[in-house]
Amino acid sequence: MTTRNGKRTIYDEAMQTFHRAADLIGLDPRVRLELEEPDFEHIFYVTIEIHDRLVPLGAEEAQAFRDVHPSSMKAADALEPLANGSFVLHRRALLESDLELRRGVIHIPQRGVFRVEKGGPRRFKAYRIQHNQVRGPYKGGIRFHKDVSLDLFKALAADMTWKTAIAEVPFGGAKGGIKIDPFNYSREEIEHLSLRYVYKFKRFMGPFLDIPAPDVGTNPEIMAYMMRQFTDGEREHHKLRGVVTGKDVRIGGSEGRLHATGQGVVCCIEEWARERERPLEGARILVQGFGNVGASAAEILHAMGARIVAVNDAHGTVHRDEGLDVPALVHHVHQDPTNLRRTVAGFPGGAAISKDDFWRVDADILVPAALGEEITGDVAERLRVRLVAEGANGPTTRDGDRVLQTRRIDVIPDVICNAGGVTVSYYEWLQNQRLERWTEADVNARLAAALRKNYAIVRDIARDRPQRTAHHDSRGLCVGRPVDVRTAALVLALRRIEAHYLLEGFSQ
Ligand code: NAD
Repeated sequence: MTTRNGKRTIYDEAMQTFHRAADLIGLDPRVRLELEEPDFEHIFYVTIEIHDRLVPLGAEEAQAFRDVHPSSMKAADALEPLANGSFVLHRRALLESDLELRRGVIHIPQRGVFRVEKGGPRRFKAYRIQHNQVRGPYKGGIRFHKDVSLDLFKALAADMTWKTAIAEVPFGGAKGGIKIDPFNYSREEIEHLSLRYVYKFKRFMGPFLDIPAPDVGTNPEIMAYMMRQFTDGEREHHKLRGVVTGKDVRIGGSEGRLHATGQGVVCCIEEWARERERPLEGARILVQGFGNVGASAAEILHAMGARIVAVNDAHGTVHRDEGLDVPALVHHVHQDPTNLRRTVAGFPGGAAISKDDFWRVDADILVPAALGEEITGDVAERLRVRLVAEGANGPTTRDGDRVLQTRRIDVIPDVICNAGGVTVSYYEWLQNQRLERWTEADVNARLAAALRKNYAIVRDIARDRPQRTAHHDSRGLCVGRPVDVRTAALVLALRRIEAHYLLEGFSQ
């Protein structure tokens, strides 16, 4: 096993379950080698022009410029605010303006004292890991985040290979993105970055080759830029809409895709609750991450009568024991234009608590829907929940997993729990190929049936209870003894992937 300076990498950690499941089923040695490392690891660079910025001066420095006259700008809306306190200085801000600059410092009333910083070309590191395509085109999200690495993308790409197999959609696994904090760049800069990403990567992607989708820091708008860049100038460009999924419904996206991952998380939770005869109405829920996945899951659970008692994100935590007003929280985070970090912090309908206290809140279910490696051994010791439903990818560390098992806290692993996104991505891709439009009710009904079936198979493998019902068939998939549910999910993925290699054979 590869280690870096004697330390296990994120990828090594992530592949532990793979090795365990592979041992259990006696995975064919050649298939194991095929899956142990990705098919391709693309690292490349994209450059774009950055606009000029107004960067706020510290209080002390600003004091030295206190007698600079306030400048007046007619088109003050041309100053685009960024999360780090800077403003993007679009040129039209200067039209009909009355400005005073001293040594590059400007005073803008109601906004503060700023240094004008010149823009220019910048370079960003980009990645796309194509892990495996034996079951179909590479498929996986694009992440724009400051803390990404080759190792992380390798782990996430492998996860996609398992997830598409478990979800039984005809895709392989991939993941990629750009190392950037998107909140500190203008919309136009993000657009240019997305276009350049596809410009550089175009020859390796396509509706039958590699199909990106949104992940952390990306959204349907970015998918639209990517589709435009890929199809621009192509003769039959309407046939290529399936090159990305997670698009806006008006340009070929699927009804239900925006909330699909959250919807899938809730479907899995419903299955868990049904088996244990626990009502979801009134159930107490903790949600970490209030972006696409966390907010969707919270909205759906709230509408079902569950109580979302605390939400934590990258910038704060809000808590209300009787349950938060979720629609109001969604408005605060996603519709308030002054909330530049899209954070729950500052929400007036709940009390601010520390992240430490968040993990200790008494609840029935925790939905981690932020980043990886949040539920460490320490965190798992503190949790007071019955179920962890993994909306995020890789939220639980190996230690965390061990503690959850010892404490008999149930887990619905990411590869099944958050598979709703890729399942509806497949429906979107199908609709694009067939030039069809399905209704949201149709999409959700298909999604629920697919998830329930695969959830039941994973459960049977975990309990070693092969059976055939009207809705699923787990015969021939169990390993002869009960296994933990994460291993069970990988067993299902590997059996489905191995069949392709064994039945189709190798080219040499
Ligand atoms: P997003 O960018 O919409 O939201 C991310 C959320 O996580 C934000 O609320 C952010 O504040 C929070 N966050 C970031 N760092 C944090 C930290 N250190 N502590 C607490 N919160 C933090 O992203 P998303 O699309 O909702 O994805 C969330 C997770 O779900 C990721 O792990 C992603 O890989 C996974 N996922 C997403 C999809 C999808 O369809 N979008 C599908 C499957 C899995």
